[in-house]
Amino acid sequence: MSFVRSLGAVTLLAAATLTNIVNAAVGGSSVSSTILILAPEGDSAYSATSGFDAYGIPYQLVTVPQSGTTLPTLNSSAKAGNYGGILILSDVSYDYGGDYHSALTENQYTALYAYQVAFGARMVRLDTYPDSTSGTAAVVASDGSEGCCADNVEQLMSFTNITGFPTARLVSGATVSTKNLYHYPAKITDSKTTWKIAQFATSGNFKSTSIAAVINNFSGREQMAFFIGFATEWSSTSNYLQHAYIHWITRGLFVGARKIYLGTQIDDMHLSTGLYYPQGRTYRVVPADISPHVAWTKSVNTRLPAGSNYFVEIGHNGNGDIINATNIGYNLANDPCIPVDAIYYDSPITSPDLEWIKPIGSGVDMWPQTPAQYSWSLACAQLDKLATWFMTPANRDAFAHMSHTFTHLNLNNATYDDAAKEIFFNQAWLKQLGLDAGKFSPAGLIPPAITGVHNGDVIKAWLDNGIKNVVGDNSRPVLMNPNNFHHLLHSTVAANGYAGLNIMPRWPTAIYYDCDTQACTTQEWTDTSAGTGKFADLLAFEKDVTTRYLFGLRHDPYMFHQANMRATGVSSYKVGSQTVYSLLQIWVETVIQEMTRLTLWPIMTLKHDDIAKLFLDREARDACKPNLVYTYAADGKKISGATVSTSNGNTCSVAVPVTFPGTASVSGGGSASRDSVGGEPLIMWATMSGQPVTFSLG
Ligand SMILES: [Zn+2]
Repeated sequence: MSFVRSLGAVTLLAAATLTNIVNAAVGGSSVSSTILILAPEGDSAYSATSGFDAYGIPYQLVTVPQSGTTLPTLNSSAKAGNYGGILILSDVSYDYGGDYHSALTENQYTALYAYQVAFGARMVRLDTYPDSTSGTAAVVASDGSEGCCADNVEQLMSFTNITGFPTARLVSGATVSTKNLYHYPAKITDSKTTWKIAQFATSGNFKSTSIAAVINNFSGREQMAFFIGFATEWSSTSNYLQHAYIHWITRGLFVGARKIYLGTQIDDMHLSTGLYYPQGRTYRVVPADISPHVAWTKSVNTRLPAGSNYFVEIGHNGNGDIINATNIGYNLANDPCIPVDAIYYDSPITSPDLEWIKPIGSGVDMWPQTPAQYSWSLACAQLDKLATWFMTPANRDAFAHMSHTFTHLNLNNATYDDAAKEIFFNQAWLKQLGLDAGKFSPAGLIPPAITGVHNGDVIKAWLDNGIKNVVGDNSRPVLMNPNNFHHLLHSTVAANGYAGLNIMPRWPTAIYYDCDTQACTTQEWTDTSAGTGKFADLLAFEKDVTTRYLFGLRHDPYMFHQANMRATGVSSYKVGSQTVYSLLQIWVETVIQEMTRLTLWPIMTLKHDDIAKLFLDREARDACKPNLVYTYAADGKKISGATVSTSNGNTCSVAVPVTFPGTASVSGGGSASRDSVGGEPLIMWATMSGQPVTFSLG
């Protein structure tokens, strides 16, 4: 803990001076914060843009073809700059008949450099070769080669000096993998202009540590150079490293925000699950399985950085309670359960094609004609110990709650009536148990096996019964927003049969729905997902994939199931300092311990309706196209003010976040709410009501 605190103190000291500039030339100038990104043709530009998209930081991408291009207008007057920073990917270089060089001309570099000095704009070069333009040279390995490494050969990388980008809140010295990211180990040749910020460890013929990234100050022109390729589409390392240059190039002052949300949703609560391995067995969690997760959630939050608030969200199927309660009731002298049976039906005929669109009005009712309303008594529902356990407020409030439908009927071919009963029976049951009085999402639903999302009758039944936000499945691309994965999917008549439903993205994991043990999920991973190795290898895979999403600021929750919470009669597992039991605990510990090893970021959970609103707000905000113009003090020694504006006459239906490296307050008209979580940088959420909102910086 004292280690974290001392890092925090360093962060604050450095942040106070982050917007201090010593450059008289910039005095009185104003600069649009838009980042100019120059990238080669092809798909690689994604690695330079995805991080800015993640934060919501405005940028302009210019793809430079081999034949070259004209640069956009860098400044519209001597005192008004159009770009807050310049990022160049892979030096926009091409092969000119065996001669590799940049498609930008000398004159264009000169113009970019002059702009940097005149407006205090920083330049980032990603995937660049170490040479005099970054005060460095390539290290020659003991076998005479340069560059590293062959496929799947490891050379670890770590930040060594994070004082240039304190608001990124990364951990110095924590290593990350560079496997399959080609890079050039470097050395500094000009120590007057150049300082090391990251290093490569020794590997193979590189017998000494070497430099991975530097910051240069060439007579006031500031540059950061990374000697490693970036691949944010598959590399967790690239998604991690990007926070250093994003915070450095912006000086920690930008439109946008960094938040880490980790949602773990547990489907099928109260149902019994047939297990994948050993086959023929079933498991239904008991209170002794769920109970340890209460203390464990508290423990997680004490170990996460200040400002964290992680919790587990439960998706309930009330009929699972009633099945158990009515079975117990049969054996009692006075059975309190009327009707004496839960809801049962024959297995519905469904389409083998998950994305089949059901014709409106087709299908047959599977539910019995009676009961038409939920009518079991509380005394009946309470016969089941699991349901009773959740009714204790202290137990209930350790989790969030939502509906997973009453019986878990496959809804792909379902009727309106059946779909409606699945909702309003469960609503009555959730109310009877008092679960809707806790952290509850009344407009939320986890569709059973994510069925019904191409069934217009079902979607109408959901909307008619107050359900607006349903969970999707990221393994099915048609359930994700095709334009922007920071937005949710809006249902349409053409694709879903009915419009107006919000479909939230959610990640499946290698912790499978039909597994309660390490052996089971490892077996299923091996059999169905080309997994190779032991349970530890499965966890390493999950750690890599999940941190890639989290470092990419993806807020999509993760899918789990009731059997994954089994904590009794299973082997313990040690993750770092923690010995835990359930597959859910093991997975969460694996992910959060990796996040806290590499960053100081708080980790939060939002209940389902709130995370859906977060996605909707993000979409509304993006449509407002917010941007920031900042102003240098007359003496050019600091950034003194910043003004946020939006297209559409400075109106926006949602607040616009502006992140500051130090203190800030609204000056002049307008208003903003202050968001200060743990040791994170200050975020001011500006209300756009017809005027720009201006801040003065402390
Ligand atoms: Zn389910």
